Amino acid sequence: MPNRPTPTDEPRYPTSRDVGDFVRAVSHVRSRIAAAAERVGRSPDEVRLLPVSKTVPEDRVRLAVRAGCHELGENKVQEAARKRQALADLDVRWSVIGHLQTNKAREVAAWASELQALDRLRVAEALDRRLAAAGRTLDVYVQVNTSAEDSKFGMPPDELPAFLAALPAYPHLRVRGLMTLAVLSDDHARVRECFALLRTLRDRARDADPDLIGPGELSMGMSGDYEIAVEEGATCVRVGQAIFGARAVPDSVFWPEADRADR
Ligand SMILES: *Cc1c(COP(=O)(O)O)cnc(C)c1O
Repeated sequence: MPNRPTPTDEPRYPTSRDVGDFVRAVSHVRSRIAAAAERVGRSPDEVRLLPVSKTVPEDRVRLAVRAGCHELGENKVQEAARKRQALADLDVRWSVIGHLQTNKAREVAAWASELQALDRLRVAEALDRRLAAAGRTLDVYVQVNTSAEDSKFGMPPDELPAFLAALPAYPHLRVRGLMTLAVLSDDHARVRECFALLRTLRDRARDADPDLIGPGELSMGMSGDYEIAVEEGATCVRVGQAIFGARAVPDSVFWPEADRADR
């Protein structure tokens, strides 16, 4: 994915250091989303921008909130929980966008606004039980591995229909749609194929049983590829570096195969 500056590059994603920086970065991303949407005859209003604040220290997250980011995505539950406490005085909804282990289900059930990375029934079961106890429901996106990279999180496409069919057994989960990460590649055609596949899977699921896929949202696209994702139908893009600045932490911390070949 073309979102990883090599050490010799100019910083591709400058670090936002004050409220004005954040306002400008967000409005830049929004205008690119709008342009991408218009290229394919979509309305920009169909696309939700979810800023991703992972690895960003709390003082800078605060600036982003002041700049109008009231919904933030975090990959790791512990980091989200820590920030949520530190920023409890602010109006923020926390979206968990990374792979979840069942032992974190209670945390997520207690406070997350949504989970975008549901990929196992054991997690669905654990969440549903905790949500029932907490008297809450949770919006979920089912994560699909559209790039056929075996170590990537998300289920293989052929397992999706049965997974969707099993989810009504967990009534505290409200299925919103599907989520994916594209292949890590500078080859735009291959990236686009991943996004198109997610859309096709959504369309097929809808045709088979519209009740199982909720509104059929498509969460796809990150700093390096969100414009392609919008062209392919994304209704939510998850953008970190293009808003907050380049991350020092390698992506392999968040998805284990990220530093493998294939770029
Ligand atoms: C970090 C992350 C993003 C955002 O990536 P950027 O390159 O910072 O835009 C999107 N989705 C998931 C699941 C992530 O972990």
